[in-house]
Amino acid sequence: MLHKIIEKRDLSPSAYALRLERNQFVFRPGQCVNLGLPGSGVNREYSTYSGTDDPYLEFLIKEVPVGTVSSALRKLEGGMEVELHGPYGSFVLQPEKIGNARFVFIGTGTGIAPFHSFVRSYPGLDYRLICGIRESNERYDAGDYDPERTVFCVSRENWEGYNGRVTDYLLENEVDPACIYYLCGNQKMIYSVYEILRNREVNGDRIFTEAFF
Ligand SMILES: Cc1cc2nc3c(=O)[nH]c(=O)nc-3n(C[C@H](O)[C@H](O)[C@H](O)COP(=O)(O)OP(=O)(O)OC[C@H]3O[C@@H](n4cnc5c(N)ncnc54)[C@H](O)[C@@H]3O)c2cc1C
Repeated sequence: MLHKIIEKRDLSPSAYALRLERNQFVFRPGQCVNLGLPGSGVNREYSTYSGTDDPYLEFLIKEVPVGTVSSALRKLEGGMEVELHGPYGSFVLQPEKIGNARFVFIGTGTGIAPFHSFVRSYPGLDYRLICGIRESNERYDAGDYDPERTVFCVSRENWEGYNGRVTDYLLENEVDPACIYYLCGNQKMIYSVYEILRNREVNGDRIFTEAFF
């Protein structure tokens, strides 16, 4: 499927949001797709960032130094096309839990992408978002989250909010075993957070994970 680029928004020196024409594409929030240059045969997975009711499709992408696809997509301009396959994956909220469970979303960097899709797609969702970033300028589209439910953990800069990693935050704060936990980002963080949650009596069947790299 070819989708035309509507716009590309720079969100930090290395991250950008790629907005595509939707073309009736149907997905569940949190699923991912494969994106690549048309006909190149090279593509990578990207989580949905936009909501199911948005008239466009959007992805939050970090340009990885020497990365093939993340840097090739960044060079594209509005009006050009990208190849999209999918949707794939099961990092989604269970429909029967959406109105009556409390969710905790824990992500690092662009691992916040599926949580953005959840929050946009399910108004009234009972969630806490704990997002790990290196610098405060990586709070991508922070205004889209309820500030009362959101904490950004900044690890490499002193700022007015929480200073430290998501693992530090979890070790210093109460962990509710009755919540449902979704973890997304790099594998190392996912392993560490999983261990902390299990040590705090959270059942493994209440923890869902999506590793980006
Ligand atoms: C299910 C799934 C969903 C994903 N969703 C997203 C998403 O929403 N947004 C997003 O930006 N990426 C996402 N990724 C990662 C993405 O698929 C690519 O791996 C990433 O864009 C790098 O691809 P590349 O071709 O530019 O680099 P490559 O040429 O493939 O690799 C360069 C090197 O960079 C490493 N690397 C990959 N990602 C990162 C990173 N974020 N930071 C540092 N090093 C990295 C790789 O391990 C590799 O060693 C997702 C991955 C998976 C498996």
